[in-house]
Amino acid sequence: MEIKKELLRSIPKVDEVLAQPQVKKAMEEGRSQVTDGVRQVLDALREQILRGEEPDLTLEGVSRAVLQQVEENSRMSLRPVINGTGIVLHTNLGRAVMCREAAQAAMDVAENYNTLEYDCEKGRRGSRYSHVEDLICRLTGAEAALVVNNNAAAVMLVLGTMAKNKQLIVSRGELVEIGGSFRVPEIMEQSNSTLLEVGTTNKTHPSDYENAIGPDTAAFLKVHTSNYKIMGFTEEVSVEELVEMGKRHDLPVIYDLGSGALVDLAQFGIESEPTVQQAMAAGADVTSFSGDKLLGGPQAGIIIGKKKYVDAMKKNPLTRALRIDKLTLAALEATLRIYLEPDEIARKIPTYRMLSMSMDELRSKGGRLLRRLKKVPGLSCALSQEEGQVGGGSVPTQMLPTWAVAMEHESVTVDQMESRLRSCRIPVIGRISKDRLLLDMRTVQEEYFGYIAQCLLEVTGGAQ
Ligand SMILES: *Cc1c(COP(=O)(O)O)cnc(C)c1O
Repeated sequence: MEIKKELLRSIPKVDEVLAQPQVKKAMEEGRSQVTDGVRQVLDALREQILRGEEPDLTLEGVSRAVLQQVEENSRMSLRPVINGTGIVLHTNLGRAVMCREAAQAAMDVAENYNTLEYDCEKGRRGSRYSHVEDLICRLTGAEAALVVNNNAAAVMLVLGTMAKNKQLIVSRGELVEIGGSFRVPEIMEQSNSTLLEVGTTNKTHPSDYENAIGPDTAAFLKVHTSNYKIMGFTEEVSVEELVEMGKRHDLPVIYDLGSGALVDLAQFGIESEPTVQQAMAAGADVTSFSGDKLLGGPQAGIIIGKKKYVDAMKKNPLTRALRIDKLTLAALEATLRIYLEPDEIARKIPTYRMLSMSMDELRSKGGRLLRRLKKVPGLSCALSQEEGQVGGGSVPTQMLPTWAVAMEHESVTVDQMESRLRSCRIPVIGRISKDRLLLDMRTVQEEYFGYIAQCLLEVTGGAQ
């Protein structure tokens, strides 16, 4: 008790801390930031003492803590990280990394007035949706297109327009949940359409759909099972078959394609995902997909299909609530323009640049990081052959063979190293496997190698 009282009394006073040269200097740059920092640090010291700890109460120690606190407080909450997980489309880390062209386009639009809803030729009001519609139609072969906030919004808008107060027929094998917050049955509820489940989890036959058709049926809904695969004794009804059946019964086919690749992944040695063009060729009346999965662009929901349906969606008041913003639209247009030159895709779109890296390239990239890490005392590291993933609910069963730099330290545990790297200025997110910390060379950008070496020096105490 006495010790605690004594310690509490020895906590430096606010004025004393503020009088320290370094703190004083910081005050000149941002007065209230620093006084807030001092208060936070002193409060934390008090709590530590009450918990029975004996923190550093010297003026120098406290000043150092204050400067660190001020630095932390000034950091953006939403900020870049280094992805060492090997998951290319990591939903928690922002999904697709956008290309330089997209970032530049967003910045140009952000810093200037722009043509968002203005037609320069006619000198009057234009449509925000016009900027990408032709481009999407050209790339996919669709008659019409509309973009909204994300694919969840797209599905809601499609169902709310085409099946409101009516019934949709869906296979039991396709009632997907994506990332915990997108569930096909719940989206249907939101759009006031009822769901008629047909078939079983593993098998659905054409007759299951056909026998379910009733007076309230509005459409067949096909959902791509993006993030899981049903294997073994299975059967699903293809889009082509649904389209054929739809024609006979005068019912449209709606296809929630999910990741929406515009190129065949097979060219990168990855299992194919159905492409948007295939969905169009199969004859789906309306197809929707995300902008930030295998398209490699910003978060968006893209709807393509027959003009009469897309026109009806454009008139739906829901479209206004789900509308895409100007920065996203600019980034999306810039990304889509790259697809006009297929040879540029793997070079310019980061998602494909990463997916197309060969094992040889990954290994030599790892070698270059190893050389940088030599200067970190006590750190042993080696190249290790590992498996990464595409992520973003795409090609779920496909593992991507890859090379990672595997690290361990003689005095800092792997867990400590992992968590300390997470608190660096630009957090470094690794993955622990077999008591080593892995940084996957597919997803770590090489321009950060010097920075990573510096972080490791700091978090292992080698910098002091
Ligand atoms: C990812 C996905 C969605 C949700 O798309 P968001 O762009 O994340 O809103 C919906 N349906 C399927 C099949 C998906 O794969």
